[in-house]
Amino acid sequence: MHEVGLMQEAVRMALDYAASAGASRVHRLRLRVGAMSGVVPDALRFAFDVVCRGTPAEGAVLEIDRVPAVCWCSKCQSEFECEDFINECPKCHEISSELRRGTELDLASVEVS
Ligand SMILES: [Zn+2]
Repeated sequence: MHEVGLMQEAVRMALDYAASAGASRVHRLRLRVGAMSGVVPDALRFAFDVVCRGTPAEGAVLEIDRVPAVCWCSKCQSEFECEDFINECPKCHEISSELRRGTELDLASVEVS
């Protein structure tokens, strides 16, 4: 499962951060997940529980911020929300393949002590 590898990476970053901050526990992780990132939030949550087991992040809270996908229309010079990689502008019906947001997969914040 793709999500397990991603979660291992995110949890390792959080544990590194905790270690460098002199903290012994990770309490909360916040991920920014774009609608077009290709990961399933439920699978991330499942992977999170598995990956954290036996680490200082066990029992931590996982927060997932969903980032909607947004396309750019060069004709209207404006952004519009979309659901795919190639989309039609709702105003001028020009086809846009310029995805501006929605592919994010970042560790936004970590809470440790
Ligand atoms: Zn347009």
